[in-house]
This record gives sequence, C-alpha cells and structure tokens, in this order.
Amino acid sequence: MAGVCLGQTPAQLSNDARVHAAMEAARRNEPRTLDLQARLCEIPAPPFQEAARGQELKRLFQELGLRDVRTDGAGNVMGVRPGKASRPNLVFAAHLDTVFPEGTNVKVTRQGDILKAPGIGDDSRGLAVMLAVIRALNEARVETPGTITFVADVGEEGLGDLRGMKSLFFDSLKGQIDKFISVDGTGLGITHIGVGSNRYKVTFKGPGGHSYGAFGMANPIQAMGRAIAKIDALEVPPQPKTTFNVGRVGGGTSINAIPFEAWMEVDMRSADPAALKSLDTRFNAAIQQAVSEENTRWSNRGAVTASAELVGVRPAGQTPKDSPIVQTALAVSRTMQIEEALREGSTDSNVPMNLNIPAITIGGGGEGTGAHSLNETFDATESWRGTGRALLLAIALAR
Ligand SMILES: [Zn+2]
Repeated sequence: MAGVCLGQTPAQLSNDARVHAAMEAARRNEPRTLDLQARLCEIPAPPFQEAARGQELKRLFQELGLRDVRTDGAGNVMGVRPGKASRPNLVFAAHLDTVFPEGTNVKVTRQGDILKAPGIGDDSRGLAVMLAVIRALNEARVETPGTITFVADVGEEGLGDLRGMKSLFFDSLKGQIDKFISVDGTGLGITHIGVGSNRYKVTFKGPGGHSYGAFGMANPIQAMGRAIAKIDALEVPPQPKTTFNVGRVGGGTSINAIPFEAWMEVDMRSADPAALKSLDTRFNAAIQQAVSEENTRWSNRGAVTASAELVGVRPAGQTPKDSPIVQTALAVSRTMQIEEALREGSTDSNVPMNLNIPAITIGGGGEGTGAHSLNETFDATESWRGTGRALLLAIALAR
C-alpha cells in the first residue's frame, strides 16, 4: 500500500495516483452504492430498534475488511481501517435510525434515478456513502497516515437524543477521537453549527376538587397558564437564533372539576450553549414563579406544585468556519466544483462540537425531498459527487 503524503492540499491530493484511483472507483461503483442504499432502507430501523440494520452493517464492515468490528453498549456498530499510525483517529459516521415507527412500509420504488421510500435519504444515503468510501479506499489500496474508525450509530433522531454519540464520546471511544465527520442525508451542504436543544415535560399538580363546591383552591391548569404567559414573554437573542415553543399541553378531568393535574411539553433551542443555558434558567424560574403566584392568589388553599422533567438534551456547539476541518471541507468541495453551503442544524456532530472536538456533518450527495415524511424521495442524478466528496474529505482528514 502506498501512503499519502502529509501536507498535501486537497487539490494536490486529488492528483495523487491512488487517490485518483479511489475517486474513479467511487464513481464507477455508484450504481452499486445506490442498490445498497435501497437495500439498507428496506431493513426497518425505527427509533430504539436499530439492531437489525446494525447487524447488517456489522456484516458489511467485516466483509470490507475493517478490523475490530464490534457493537458497543448503545448499539453503535464500529470498525477500524488502520492507517500508518493509530492517531489521529478520524471517526466517520452515519446514523442507523429513522423517524418511522414499526410497521411503516419501507419498500423502495425506483424509476430511473428517482428512488422513493421513507428513510431513503435520511440516512440510508449516509450509510451507503460510508460503505462506498471504505470500498473505494480498499480498491485503490489507499493507506492514510492516520486511522479511520467507521461508525454506524444509533439514536440520532428525535427522542433518540443522540444517545449513540453520547455513548461513543463518553464511553466506547472516550478520549480516542481526534476528528469527526458524519454523512447525514442528501445534498452537498456542510453543517458546522450544532443547534442544541433542551426539552421538558412540566407537570403541575394539586388536590383538585369540585369547580363550585371547592372554589377557592389553586388550579394546576391556571398555574400552567401563568407559566405559559411568562414563557411567551421571555426575550431571546436573534443571533445566534435562540427559540422556545410550548408544543403540547394536556390535563384536567372535567369542565366542572378543578383539575388535579396539567402538563406541557416545551422545546428550547440555540447554537450558543450560553444562550441556551440562560433561557433554560429563566424558563425554570418562570415555572416556579407561576406556581408561587397561583398559590398566593388562592391563599395557599389546595396548593399547586410543578416539576419539570428534562426529556431531551442535545448539546450545542460549533466548529468555527476558519477551523482546519471546515477549511479542508471547503477546499475539498471547491476541488470538485461544489458551491460553498455552510449550514446549522442538529446532528450527530453536536456532541463532539460541544466537546470542542473538530466535527462537521456533510450531505451524502444526490437531491432529497420530504425527509421525515412517508413521501421521502432521492434523486440520484450526479449523486457520485457526494460519494467522491466524502471520500476525498476522509482521505484529507485522516492525517
Ligand atoms: Zn439524519
């Protein structure tokens, strides 16, 4: 195997004979990559039920000759492609899970370049690109200076709450990850800002009673109303965009009963950890204040309490635009005549970004529409460019 020299720019790299051969392989293999994308999509992977798809990734990692292929405690499947040295260690990831519940029809229909099925882009594309990168590196016998650990991870979507990444960075590969890249979905964007979120379910409780007979007691729904009014009045910075939303409410038993319980679900987001923390503090204070006002209003008869349960945390962070990893990604993209498209989002990269480990999430190429919907569609026109970009970037970063 021939090594790739240190200090090469992405443009020089793509002229390296072996790198060039790897790029050719990626392009030549794209039809196979699309077949694999469709096949992986048809293995259901509902939230918290990624095991079957994970099993198949494990088999494919082994077939492609990765070393030390294993599944960690959370269900992440990983395998190592050693370089000349064990460090730097680049983790290259794509997520196994979809947002679709058990029983969703995930059969792929295909007409020419158009593939349709729930999950076909997000993130069957990322998984297929990851496998295509390994295959191309192998076929061209590229040896990287550093090592690449490939990971098919769990829990990226929704209430999965990035549990795969949390397990990877705080447990299974703790202290062993120098750089991180994930391929998520379609298009050719580069996400370098990780929007964090805190999600709460807040429950208000009191003894409850008859609306007429027990009148004069504090009321959990009315206390919650006070809290919602205070949340609505919270001031947040426009930059970086910081948001809040009371998304669902419930409670009460009858029109003529003072309720014994009410609840609400609240989502708060920001790319700035300090702004998110400040919002979180003011949100929790607003709830306590609302409860206290409600109890004072009714002289503590049938006093109400509230408890806020944190049901989701996605850490915020960012990889600055002028950091080497973002600059490398932009240079690699330029080499392939890919327009600069820097984005913000909530992806697996949030976890390393929060730890100040260089991290980005890139699109896997092609064009996707209707992600997270039953009408999800993937247009594979020129999709090899996404595979090629991911490959070149992996080579450029594994050093
Ligand atoms: Zn995704």
